[in-house]
Amino acid sequence: MGLLNWNSSQHYESDAKPCTQCDTTTPLRSHAGEPVHKVCAEDWNDRNPNAARVIHDDGQDLGTTRYHSDRPRKSRKEGAR
Ligand SMILES: [Zn+2]
Repeated sequence: MGLLNWNSSQHYESDAKPCTQCDTTTPLRSHAGEPVHKVCAEDWNDRNPNAARVIHDDGQDLGTTRYHSDRPRKSRKEGAR
């Protein structure tokens, strides 16, 4: 499992909340709105290799259903620039 791609602005909230993995506050959110650092999410994925995966249409492994990368999209406009 590689690094997560969380470029979308949906992963950033203005208020910091305790990370569910390390308890240090973070403005980052998972796709489900769970407060978690990206590195903590990546670490969780590494420690849970049997968790259900999110597989993109082209077969790319995006991570686990709990913590996964933004889907590579061409049509929808994302916050990344
Ligand atoms: Zn953390």
